[in-house]
Amino acid sequence: DAGSPPAPRFEGAERHLIQPWPYAGAIGNEARTPIETGDGIYITDADGRRLIDGPAGMWCVNLGHRREELARVMADQAMELSYNTPWYTMSDPSAELARRLAAHAPGDLEHVFFTTGGSSAVETALRFMQFINNVRGRPDKKLILSRGGAYHGSTYLSASLNGRPRDRDWMDGADDLVVKLSCPDPFRRPAGMTIEAFTDFLVDEFRATVERVGAERIGAFVAEPVQASGGVIVPPPGYLPRIRNLCRDNDILYVSDEVVTAFGRLGEVFASGDVFGIEPDMITFAKGVTSGYFPLGGVMISARLTEELRRSNHPQAMFGHGYTFSSHPIGCAVALKNLDLLEGGVLEHARTVAPYFQEQLKTLEDLALVGEVRGAGLMACVECVADRESKNPLALDNAVGKRIDAHCHELGLLVRPLINMCVMSPPLIITRDQIDDMVAILREG
Ligand code: PLP
Repeated sequence: DAGSPPAPRFEGAERHLIQPWPYAGAIGNEARTPIETGDGIYITDADGRRLIDGPAGMWCVNLGHRREELARVMADQAMELSYNTPWYTMSDPSAELARRLAAHAPGDLEHVFFTTGGSSAVETALRFMQFINNVRGRPDKKLILSRGGAYHGSTYLSASLNGRPRDRDWMDGADDLVVKLSCPDPFRRPAGMTIEAFTDFLVDEFRATVERVGAERIGAFVAEPVQASGGVIVPPPGYLPRIRNLCRDNDILYVSDEVVTAFGRLGEVFASGDVFGIEPDMITFAKGVTSGYFPLGGVMISARLTEELRRSNHPQAMFGHGYTFSSHPIGCAVALKNLDLLEGGVLEHARTVAPYFQEQLKTLEDLALVGEVRGAGLMACVECVADRESKNPLALDNAVGKRIDAHCHELGLLVRPLINMCVMSPPLIITRDQIDDMVAILREG
């Protein structure tokens, strides 16, 4: 995410491995921290250094590492039924998981299409929007509204929605299908503008864009309730419900991308309804659904939409979409156990400890290089600036000396570096004492 290409290091087996987001000059020869074991909120690197897993892997190890209950259920399921085709068979864990998720989802989101992760979930939601508009006889209503700062995945269509410039600098995308809106970042709102005026600006921009482009051409609006990889951007109060209403008025499907925010990160199974008070048409999820123990994702889909398809003039039309590993029984079995544990106390713990987490991180704002500490639930971002007046991002390249995340690593904390930002989203089981350790290391770093 940040800095210049690392010096080549590997000569052994590692040089055959290509990791995500590699620099051209380092492909197949890039040093990344080798991690050997995990336990609770900690991971241990190859040098034997124990680190707090600050980002919970990739926003996903919500219940922590080395949970025996999760490992056991996966082994048991593999011995019972390791795989079944989702094309013409079903498994009990997948149907039961669909039922349990529907009970947590807001509004009438009663149906689930399982995928292999977050990108494939977003891709599925978008292809479903295209499909339903074809069935409805509205083949031109396919454009997608997305926002600056967004991250929705790495498949071609989902990646086309991404709004962080560095993700797109060297990459192609389906640009003719996507219309971009502003990032709802209160910290970087125009100087002198109140939060209320900024919210009005965002809502007016949405309305004006729909008028300019034409509601009859826009199929979906896709948004993370809190933009995660964009730097934990918590939108201004009231913004999401107002945009939700505009989508309803213009028959634009609202897709809430909860790949990060679901499964306890904001204290609830899904945040759209329980935290933000909105009922989307679809919710995409992944990551924390299995606490990262198995790659699984999915899309919750409104019963109003499935009912409309059933009653349409084209009941024979086929949604030609699916993955070999849709509804994987091992993934669904571990997701069920994960949900048991979330409901059985971890959600409650996350809700209890979150205010302390936010409060303690906020104390870092007394450091001159910190422009803002912001967050919600158990996700937060420490944004570093060159100076508070200009809010220009602090240059954290190697020339300046050691980067904050490198210092933290030495001190026992894995930080996710996002250019000038340190992003924190620890396992939900983190305790107050462990939060104190994390904040002390960040301060020192
Ligand atoms: N959507 C959001 C909000 C994400 O943060 C991510 C990944 O970080 C994705 C989608 C893509 O998920 P995956 O990496 O599982 O394909």
